[in-house]
Amino acid sequence: MVEHKQNKDKNDIFNIPLLGFMFKNQKFIMSVRIIVLVIFAYGIYLGFAIPQKENIFTKELFWGLFWSLFMIVTLTTFGRIFCGICPHGFLGKYITKYGLKREMPAWLKNPWWGLSLIIIGWWAITYSFPGFYRIPLVTAILFTAVTLVAFILYYVYKDMSYCKYVCPIGSLTKAYHRISFTWLGSYKEDCSDCKTFDCATACPYNLKPFTFNNKNSMEDCSLCMECSSACDAISFKIVKPAESLYKKFKFDKIEVWAYILITAAISITMSFHHGLGRSAVADAMPWTQTAEYFKSFINFGSLDAVGFFAFFYAIVLSVALVYAGMFIASKILKAPFSKTFYTLGYAFAPLFIIGGLSHLLHSFFTHTYADIANGFIYGLGLDAEEVKNLASRKDTWLSVFEAFKYIAVIWAFIIMYNRIHLFEANKKAKTAAFFFASSLIFFFLFINLYRVYVVKTYGTPVHSSHMHHGAENDFTK
Ligand code: SF4
Ligand code: SF4
Repeated sequence: MVEHKQNKDKNDIFNIPLLGFMFKNQKFIMSVRIIVLVIFAYGIYLGFAIPQKENIFTKELFWGLFWSLFMIVTLTTFGRIFCGICPHGFLGKYITKYGLKREMPAWLKNPWWGLSLIIIGWWAITYSFPGFYRIPLVTAILFTAVTLVAFILYYVYKDMSYCKYVCPIGSLTKAYHRISFTWLGSYKEDCSDCKTFDCATACPYNLKPFTFNNKNSMEDCSLCMECSSACDAISFKIVKPAESLYKKFKFDKIEVWAYILITAAISITMSFHHGLGRSAVADAMPWTQTAEYFKSFINFGSLDAVGFFAFFYAIVLSVALVYAGMFIASKILKAPFSKTFYTLGYAFAPLFIIGGLSHLLHSFFTHTYADIANGFIYGLGLDAEEVKNLASRKDTWLSVFEAFKYIAVIWAFIIMYNRIHLFEANKKAKTAAFFFASSLIFFFLFINLYRVYVVKTYGTPVHSSHMHHGAENDFTK
């Protein structure tokens, strides 16, 4: 470890007693990684050993605890620590060290792989075949396959290229870590006379952490903390939430596309399919009508056509709105379309991740907490009583979590306001461009308000025909 006599910042997590230990002590970090790896492997093993739905451990471990509870809670707070303890990244570092260290070919070196896998490989299938991935055997096969692919790619290609370009989770964590209130960087005064660059040498991702502050980008940093063990000048500071988004940086197209497509695939589709789709007027919704129309001459078999079309409409509408809004904004700002699109598109960051906290926290109290606890009781064979839900869906206090959707909207507007100011234009042009560039934010707001209006006005029937479609094809049932 290279030691420096820097004035350590009081906001540096490495200097805060308990947090410093958790994020810097290599023995502690290693223990957490080993525990996660063992649980991960056991979840897969149990998926093969008990492939039916009675194996609630595998389902709750992967689809309750890892995704979405741990992922969303950590991404919105400390950043990409999911990657920091990920079993693939953990073992990948060793595999790649003894691997072939080849350059990944250009066709594979494309972050669209990761994003497409998450949007099409995961969400399109999830809406089309509800519950399919949650079958313990399917979960086990899925994670075995992903693990094999990851290990082969770590072995063949250098610099953790699998994490950078192919991992679907990585495409999400990379984009959303910007919302967190932490930042990995370095102490400028220590780095200025550095001749050894130990942090860069230690980084398995071939990054240069001493450039992160200047670039206002942590690039592909997975918070593995190898650099902080190699050099004392590395800092992990508490900053203003989403601080990097208020300032200039070289945009990364895939991050903006992740915000747009993930908001469409999760937030907007859920509002269509699970919000409006569970109202008394579900049958009048365009995705239900389209599905009914196609069903009159196509046999969809076990595919949930309503879910599929809700997803399809959400993606097409969201992308069209963003394109149209950004096109007009670029004309108003007299700036190139690409620059406008990718500079302002960062304002969409809070929509899914902060808006999603309302559903996440609501579900945590009504079932996720008990589901995960009961999953572990089952999986570890504990002799304990069944854990009960922390709240009932009827509890009115749960509606406080709805606020996160509106916090997400306000936050997105604030980021948009700040990013519009990165353009040279007069006040009138900036104000007009603000409204057009915010099309996705307005759409997100409108859909949420409309859902509340529809449910209040028409109610939620116990058996809508849409719910019937969903239930009919739910593989978990
Ligand atoms: S990018 Fe993917 S494989 Fe790499 S550490 Fe993150 S989650 Fe794990
Ligand atoms: S910059 Fe540091 S924490 Fe980030 S990936 Fe590289 S070694 Fe790990």
